[in-house]
Amino acid sequence: MLWFRLTALRFACVLPLLLATLAPRPASAQKQPAGDDGYLFHDSHFHLTNYVQEGTDIHRFLEIMGNKVGRCMLSGIPLQQQWMYANTGEFAPEYYTQTDAPLYYYSFTDAIIANAYLQLTPEERKRFDPMITGFNPTDMYAADHIRRVLKIFPGVFSGIGEFSIHKEFVSSKIAGEVATLENKALDRILEFAAEVGMPVVLHCDVNTPFPRPNQDPYIVTNLRKLAGRHRDVVIIWAHIGLGRVVRPVEDQVGMLERALEDPESSNIHFDISWDETAKYLVATPETTEVMANLINRYPDRFLFGTDSVAPKTREQYLETYEAYAPLLAKLTPEARHQLLKGNYERIFDKARKNVRAWEAANARPRP
Ligand SMILES: [Zn+2]
Repeated sequence: MLWFRLTALRFACVLPLLLATLAPRPASAQKQPAGDDGYLFHDSHFHLTNYVQEGTDIHRFLEIMGNKVGRCMLSGIPLQQQWMYANTGEFAPEYYTQTDAPLYYYSFTDAIIANAYLQLTPEERKRFDPMITGFNPTDMYAADHIRRVLKIFPGVFSGIGEFSIHKEFVSSKIAGEVATLENKALDRILEFAAEVGMPVVLHCDVNTPFPRPNQDPYIVTNLRKLAGRHRDVVIIWAHIGLGRVVRPVEDQVGMLERALEDPESSNIHFDISWDETAKYLVATPETTEVMANLINRYPDRFLFGTDSVAPKTREQYLETYEAYAPLLAKLTPEARHQLLKGNYERIFDKARKNVRAWEAANARPRP
């Protein structure tokens, strides 16, 4: 893996600097936050339903979370995989890699999520942050869909996403216009997110699946421009742009550093969810070390999530968390807390307050 070797080399060059950042921190910065709730983490990236809109019953999911996971963002999946008889006959595909048939935007996913959430007691609801995903991000009317969902289901949603702009194997399967970061429809979505004060979880591959050598990742440039155009919106970049086959770009750590240092990109946060992301970040002791150092230096910008899709068991649900054990072991107590819980609480507590305030001014309360 060339990237990791290059990263290791780069890592050796900046070792003295990194060691300086690893020096013991003042006691105040290291202390564990008061009132530790005993949970392992809050999940900033989760899908209750799958690509055919079936999923885990919300009460069963609460059992799966148990006393291990405190809070959870609650996404559906904005896309439905069509079962095209001409393509797969009696075989009913459940995942987008199982058929050549197209995917289409399935707005009812938002109603499914709201309905699941409303089945819970008020006490149980406190553990969830439902998200709006059921819109076509190339449609200038997408923002109107989001506004409509807030008005029909006041008191439910906290944010927008995960929805996808560039996604390996998925983008090219969606009928109609292909999503891009420069689409005015996406600007309208983010303008509305700013008006309400909702965070946005964006899936956008860092590169194309099989780029030619030395190809500039134009996506990164466009993502930074997007964040610059919408400085007031908390953008959570899902999986730091990595995927099944979308590998880290050669200078992934450098790219992250530049984004983290740039005040114009300070609204971008990075979610390390998905076992497919973990496979890169903890691939070797060197990559683990480099990522841990980055998170230790910018503890307020990274979030942990499982990206679990309709899990059936707790073991399955906790797989990504377990995969990150080597990385978590290298974090300072403060960075570890921020990654696993602190940043979630900061972002979603504020989002809840913002959305409830917008609803109070713009929507009728639910009867
Ligand atoms: Zn996801």
